[in-house]
Amino acid sequence: MARDTQTVGQCPKCNADNLTCRYNDFEKDDLRIVSWEHKCAECGYRETTAFRSDDPEELQPVDAGTCPYCERSANR
Ligand SMILES: [Zn+2]
Ligand SMILES: [Zn+2]
Repeated sequence: MARDTQTVGQCPKCNADNLTCRYNDFEKDDLRIVSWEHKCAECGYRETTAFRSDDPEELQPVDAGTCPYCERSANR
């Protein structure tokens, strides 16, 4: 299990400089879940995406280790 949180800049909703990008990597038996979350501590703005290894092939990301919102790479 890997976790990695970074402050990535400005909130698109309230413009506070407090937007965090969180990466989560969870593995259990054959299942792997990678999730990305952008969240603002000021106004509660939040968006998340999760990739599961048991999703159909066409839903698999090109690279789950890259944030779909800010395109940074996870520190694994
Ligand atoms: Zn905000
Ligand atoms: Zn991000």
